[in-house]
Amino acid sequence: MTAREEKPSERPFTHSKSVLCEKEMRKLALPHDVLMQIEKPARYIGGEYNSYNKNMDETEVNVVFCFPDVYDIGTANLGMQIIYEQFNRRPDAYCDRVYSPWPDLDKIMRERHIPLFGVESQRPIKDFSYLMITLSYEMCYTNVLQVLDLSGIPLLSRDRREDDPIVIGGGSCAYNPEPIADFFDAFNIGESEVTLDRIVDVEKEARKNGLTRLQRLEMIAQIPGFYVPAFYKPSYNDDGTLKAFEPVNPHAPRTVKRQVAAQMDGSLPYPKHPLVPFSRGMMDRATLEVMRGCIRGCRFCQAGMIYRPTRNRDLQTLKDWAVEMLESSGYEELNLSSLATSDYTDFASFLDFIMPYCEERKINIGIPSLRIDAFSLDVMSKIQDIKKSSLTFAPEAGSQRLRDIINKGLTEEAILSGAREAFLGGWNKVKLYFMLGQPFETDEDVKAIPVLSDLIAREYYDAIPKSERNGRVNVQASTSFFVPKPFTPFQWAPMMRPEEFIRRAMLVKDGMKEQLNRKSLSYHYHNDLQTELEGVFARGDRRIGKAILMAYENGCMYDAWSDQMKYDVWMECFNKCGISLDFYNYRERSEDELFPWDFIDIGVTKAFLKREWKAAKEGRVTPNCRERCSGCGARCYQGGVCFEDQV
Ligand code: SF4
Repeated sequence: MTAREEKPSERPFTHSKSVLCEKEMRKLALPHDVLMQIEKPARYIGGEYNSYNKNMDETEVNVVFCFPDVYDIGTANLGMQIIYEQFNRRPDAYCDRVYSPWPDLDKIMRERHIPLFGVESQRPIKDFSYLMITLSYEMCYTNVLQVLDLSGIPLLSRDRREDDPIVIGGGSCAYNPEPIADFFDAFNIGESEVTLDRIVDVEKEARKNGLTRLQRLEMIAQIPGFYVPAFYKPSYNDDGTLKAFEPVNPHAPRTVKRQVAAQMDGSLPYPKHPLVPFSRGMMDRATLEVMRGCIRGCRFCQAGMIYRPTRNRDLQTLKDWAVEMLESSGYEELNLSSLATSDYTDFASFLDFIMPYCEERKINIGIPSLRIDAFSLDVMSKIQDIKKSSLTFAPEAGSQRLRDIINKGLTEEAILSGAREAFLGGWNKVKLYFMLGQPFETDEDVKAIPVLSDLIAREYYDAIPKSERNGRVNVQASTSFFVPKPFTPFQWAPMMRPEEFIRRAMLVKDGMKEQLNRKSLSYHYHNDLQTELEGVFARGDRRIGKAILMAYENGCMYDAWSDQMKYDVWMECFNKCGISLDFYNYRERSEDELFPWDFIDIGVTKAFLKREWKAAKEGRVTPNCRERCSGCGARCYQGGVCFEDQV
């Protein structure tokens, strides 16, 4: 069955074929001639299979949810799909969607003064009470301004009027909201499943009692997990570091506590009827999140800290959801997502159920984040076409010394034996991911990347007799550049300068040429200039906002797309705004420095992060949560791996 075939559904509000026909006749926000001249017009017309299509005028509260990048990427975002489901499953709420118009449409909308609109209702964004924007990566910040601008909403929250939507940000970048604090009325810190329903309550009360915008924001500031930037004031020391960060409104708490769904049970909202876009999305598949968080404590990884504690989803729930998602969408691929899927406790039992189901129906299974061990290889051999596919390892560092510093929890022996098993299993393509510029990295650590790549290639030639080889082994190494992130043990670390990144990349490149099996090796490194911007945004403070605004006003947009990013414009804006890259990126922060994000309590304590920073300096490894609890603080959420022993 293909995704475009109709299937009956029992879900309330889901469209039927006749509703779709009605929708096809509705007035679209973009005139026909515009739709005919832009790339992929299906990005802007809504009406996707499994979209809710409720009547906005018949619900009490309406929100529009934005993914500030192009539709093709936004529709695949799981967080967005969860929120879309969460609001729309309530009879009293309406949730539309909006994405960044691609530059071709952006230009036309400005020329013709067409206001930005929700794809489902085709109504202007300004008609909604709330505009919620998910912030999955820092490089989307100018796209946030594009969305506000095209919607006719003042870019600065202080300029907004009573009838403008309240603009709320969320997602992983909300864990340091300060660089974009001026553009948002509020931020949601934590998991939407346990916070966003409260917004519906606020709005109902606001309507009943005729509350002003300020009163609504004061109510929002009192909801656990919400932060209203206008109610706080930062002050700075002479050296530019943060001196204090104080609430200036009596309704604003001193600390904003991240909210977490302690139990990941079947009652939580989930897109069991996932949207099926008309145009092929970046990820044309159903996504099943098997667990949240990660038991391992890689010291560079923000997700590994801000989603603690690790929580498994219930096995029976996953079985039911998988079947419902596939049957309701017709998708031909099921993606099992999480930060480390093979750490899901009931993984084997789930696979015993889902593999025969998918095999019978010719549905592919994708598992993007597996650790390479014998069990995982066995699984991969059953779900992949070995001849066509490549295996991915992420050693992150070439030497054991540096892998211990970053707490990767992976020995060279495990990497090589994993590779050997894979080659014996029939694979002959391997992708290796490394990061350059991690704290305390030396040239020797960098040179160890080609050496390790070569050792992996050598495993192939040792393990597979010449007569049985399917050509040469193909080992593709790629490196990205390390960016220190808030709420990680490396939040104190200096970043490397672009020229140093390039020098190290060249060391890897030259090293590849010196290896015995060099013809089997290839190397690619990622853009260093975007990394520099990402560094400023990741650990910046409220003073960064003026540079973001200036860059947007000077044509910056879609900075996450390397062919769109205007590096020189950004550097000029930083200069004009007095933003020093030395200050934000290239200095080591002292352990007693107050950070712009310290007012957020994520459960994991700063004391734990400091201990981990010290352990990194000493090259000490910290065991994972299942081996031994290290007392990170996330136990306060009363759920997940912290309580597994007691079950
Ligand atoms: S409290 Fe212990 S078990 Fe729980 S997340 Fe932290 S380190 Fe892991």
